[in-house]
Amino acid sequence: MTISSHILGFPRIGAQRELKFALESFWRGDSDVSALQNVAHTIKTKNWQTQIDAHLTHVTVGDFAFYDQMLNQSLMLGCIPKRFGFDASHITLAQTFDLARGNAAQPAMEMTKWFDTNYHYLVPELAQDIQFKVNVDAILSDIDAVRALGGEAKPVIIGPLTYLWLAKIHGQNFNKLDLLPTLTQAYADILKAFKARQVTWVQIDEPILSLDLPGFWLNAFDTVYGELNTVGCKVLLTTYFEDVSAHIARINKLPVQGVHIDGARAPQQIAAWVDHLPADKVLSIGIIDGRNIWRADASALIGQLQSAKASLGDRLWVGTSCSLLHTPVSLEFESKLDPEIRNWLAFATEKVTEIGVITRALNEGNGAVTSELAQSDAAQYARRNSKRVTSDFVRNRLASVTTAMSTRVTPFAQRIKKQQAHLNLPLFPTTSIGSFPQTTEIRQLRAAHKRGEIGALDYLERIREHIKLAVEEQEKLDIDVLVHGEAERNDMVEFFGEHLWGYVFTANGWVQSYGSRCVKPPVIYGDIYRPEPMTVDTTRYAQSLTNKPMKGMLTGPITMLQWSFVRDDQPRELTALQLALAIRDEVQDLETAGITVIQIDEPALREGLPLKRRDWAVYLEWAVRAFRLSSAGVADTTQIHTHMCYSEFNDILPNIAAMDADVITIETSRSNMKLLKGFGDFNYPNDIGPGVYDIHSPRVPSVDAMTFLLERACEVIPAERLWVNPDCGLKTRGWEETRAALSHMVSAAKIMRKKV
Ligand code: GLN
Ligand code: ZN
Repeated sequence: MTISSHILGFPRIGAQRELKFALESFWRGDSDVSALQNVAHTIKTKNWQTQIDAHLTHVTVGDFAFYDQMLNQSLMLGCIPKRFGFDASHITLAQTFDLARGNAAQPAMEMTKWFDTNYHYLVPELAQDIQFKVNVDAILSDIDAVRALGGEAKPVIIGPLTYLWLAKIHGQNFNKLDLLPTLTQAYADILKAFKARQVTWVQIDEPILSLDLPGFWLNAFDTVYGELNTVGCKVLLTTYFEDVSAHIARINKLPVQGVHIDGARAPQQIAAWVDHLPADKVLSIGIIDGRNIWRADASALIGQLQSAKASLGDRLWVGTSCSLLHTPVSLEFESKLDPEIRNWLAFATEKVTEIGVITRALNEGNGAVTSELAQSDAAQYARRNSKRVTSDFVRNRLASVTTAMSTRVTPFAQRIKKQQAHLNLPLFPTTSIGSFPQTTEIRQLRAAHKRGEIGALDYLERIREHIKLAVEEQEKLDIDVLVHGEAERNDMVEFFGEHLWGYVFTANGWVQSYGSRCVKPPVIYGDIYRPEPMTVDTTRYAQSLTNKPMKGMLTGPITMLQWSFVRDDQPRELTALQLALAIRDEVQDLETAGITVIQIDEPALREGLPLKRRDWAVYLEWAVRAFRLSSAGVADTTQIHTHMCYSEFNDILPNIAAMDADVITIETSRSNMKLLKGFGDFNYPNDIGPGVYDIHSPRVPSVDAMTFLLERACEVIPAERLWVNPDCGLKTRGWEETRAALSHMVSAAKIMRKKV
């Protein structure tokens, strides 16, 4: 009996972001296609070799992409937006990048988030008369390359139903499912090509099984997989990100030879799958977490898999929960990381090794991997017992939190009057979202400070110069509520994480976000504590430069949580509440320092929503509670703002209202204030600042354009509750356009004041 092992995919950016740099050099015109191909070849070979070295049964191919795996699937299907005028059966690399990034003639394909991850894929564009033209050359040559290394190649593709579900129709009106028969044919052609290449197993990813799917989409699985089965490849129907046990009966009847389930996110489903698995199928259990960076408890996982092994024998596969795309590549370069904490982590490379060790233990007994298991046990023991992870002080404090602490002293209707009396602002008060242009000078200053070339005092002084500049600019523009400009922050999460206990930062823990863009989420490993004020000094200094109100600027608990790797040894809710307490302390220190307008940004609140609707209420309850805990400890006269962008709100408006921020600023300009209508219909009770201009573009909108938007806003929200601001922070813009746009914005507000 042999239990098999595999991963669902490996990061492609390279251990030191080699692909990123190669892509950007190619785009700049500094290198040619063959240089780029060489880098890709090196990365792929290394990734395959890692799997071979760990003795994984299958080596995954087809997970590499120059830009995005969804775009690869579109290329494989010959499903290319016609508007580009390319020959769909022969797309060059340069054309691939035109599709992804746009060119002089055409905007890029739309990009959106991959399920509830921070990865973004390119949305396929469908036309009614599409003729799929299958091209599998790239993946076939990778299959050959894996074999040349001595590996058993298992190609991975995105499944037809997930592809179709995520695709969008452009400028036409028809039912996507009408395309299913031809699409299925195209997929059958792909499988035929695999079959002709003697491929045994094909991993077909159908993560939409984790969503709330309408019945006719579920029914479509029966037809599609019935048809694909006739080709004769063995299909591993792959699900991830959620419990899919609701579909056991249907999937068990499908003519597929294997099923993969996410056993890290949804371990509760494992037993049901094991118990009901038909004799003609294998079950791949994804027990190594592909969404986080913690070292696995190998002994515990081996123990957990024993009953699956007893029932399934060699029909058991061991795998990662999802693709490792969502983790950094390797711990190898984390030499500066605290060794104690480093020992608790596993990135993609280390996770591959873990799969190898666990599978070997299952096949040959724990004795075959004694020293690996001893090391794993020791790391678990150390992490569980480390004094650095838990703080009694934080825990006791959290235990004594009362509901009163999350409730403002008086209701909005009363306290807003006190705030108005105190702040004395005009109608349509103007403000900005926080950051001002991050000039090269500012970036260089921060980098030099980080490298230790500039001492703390020098640095502070020079940051102050930038703050002073920002304040002067805003006074000249006659803005009503000022900000200090965030020159000292390169990132809204990193800045706070660096000042809090319980956070660590990796040197090289990059995760692909889209194309060549990567993020380096900080790691929350322990109880969160704020040893000292983080923003009081800069904010107080900024306030000292002006008689106008200076808005303090903080990142909210949910955004801190969402944009970090979080600990897996306590519920997310607890971590969020700990973060909330730390921010609450900062809010109160700002208030004590005389700051009476404080903004707590929560742009990531919406993206934290679970994939399944039934789980929304629970998440929203604690997310809102965390925000309220962070913000409600202030006097009536202190005005709390929050800011959210990239969001639809209409389906969560009761929760947004429950946050009870005095003012919420949102991104709306690109939707022509459409988003705002929902707030109006809902009778959203507090003040709102709908963004009146898009900060993603260097275009400077006219006074008229902004006045027009404000007039639209007045149709749905009473004028006395409207604020005037851009869509989001201005850090990516230049000063010239910022000055011009803000001056138009202030003029528009002044025009509106005369009108009402
Ligand atoms: N205060 C932040 C800024 O202005 C907000 C950023 C965001 O919403 N993403 O940059
Ligand atoms: Zn924003």
